[in-house]
Amino acid sequence: MSEYEVLAVRYGSRVARKAETYLNFHVYGEPDSDLPMDYFFWVVRNGDRTIVVDCGFGPEPGLARRRTMLVHPADALRGLGITPESVSQVVVTHAHYDHIGNLDHFPAAEVVIARREFEFWTGPYARRTQFAHSTEADELARLATIAGQGRLRQVEGTVDLAPGIELTVVGGHTPGQLIAQVAGGDGTVILAADALHFYEELERDRPFFVVADLLEMYQGFDLLREMTEDSGRLLVAGHDAQVGDRFAGRVEGLPDELGDLVVRIARGGES
Ligand SMILES: [Zn+2]
Repeated sequence: MSEYEVLAVRYGSRVARKAETYLNFHVYGEPDSDLPMDYFFWVVRNGDRTIVVDCGFGPEPGLARRRTMLVHPADALRGLGITPESVSQVVVTHAHYDHIGNLDHFPAAEVVIARREFEFWTGPYARRTQFAHSTEADELARLATIAGQGRLRQVEGTVDLAPGIELTVVGGHTPGQLIAQVAGGDGTVILAADALHFYEELERDRPFFVVADLLEMYQGFDLLREMTEDSGRLLVAGHDAQVGDRFAGRVEGLPDELGDLVVRIARGGES
């Protein structure tokens, strides 16, 4: 098997505050401060396949929430030589607006999601305010449409998506939050997505404020710690502005407007 190139595409940003980011921040007894927050999706590819992990917020829901879109995810893919319309697989780590907003750009893709995630967001509790706040009704409806078209693959537990790509349902942030482990050319990459928005969540054991199940969120932290015990594991947080510093790999030959937005987590290569 040839190992995968793994890219993080920073398509959006904002500046948040710690007090509005961490659950019950007041219990830590610290002064509040700014917290730069980036929005990413990820590309996993080798000679055999290209998999897109999440697809960012749509322009309008992003604007309504005052998030800055740095590049439209579909345009970013085209800049990387990937035609969204011909992508064959999109993994949805969870159904929040900033992860499924552009699924309409992938009409040919099988969309992979945790069964628990799909069932929750098409079930009776999805419309309750504290849950619904992080989603868009038409985007959830699109997931159901994709299921009706036979393009939605629902996974449980831990599954091998393809040689060298393993998905695990961890829950916590949402009922069926997924993480992905990928055999990259520079080591195993753990795409935590929103099981870990910020590295500080793991380093200081601080849950994020949007939480479906607090116990599962803490258990997800423990799992990520276990996964990264071995050196050489590359842990990628879902929204941390440090990602660009921790993984300084640049991709050569990109259009100028993408140069600062694409972070190479791992090179591809032959094993
Ligand atoms: Zn997110």
